[in-house]
Amino acid sequence: MKPASHHRAKCKRCYASIVWCLTSANGRRQPVNFEPDEAGNVAVSSGADGVLYVRTVTADRPDIRPGEWRAMPHHATCPSPPPRRSSGGGQRATSGAVRPVPWQR
Ligand SMILES: [Zn+2]
Repeated sequence: MKPASHHRAKCKRCYASIVWCLTSANGRRQPVNFEPDEAGNVAVSSGADGVLYVRTVTADRPDIRPGEWRAMPHHATCPSPPPRRSSGGGQRATSGAVRPVPWQR
């Protein structure tokens, strides 16, 4: 298995092909390298809702189940990982959700 091509995204820092997954542990977004990687330590699967989910392959559960593929978290290979922040952690998605405020008083 491998991710469907419509899941392909690009890392903003190194332009590598990645896919955004939700961690099955806590639902956080995590970038994973697009190409499956046998050396990776996570397993990605495509949920029934069309979302990709990622879980860490542990010693307890080393098996890759049907429908999953082994992959590498992008942070492990990105040549320019995001800088450490003291608070928060995730990058803020600054989309166009800013409210236009009239410049008057
Ligand atoms: Zn990158």
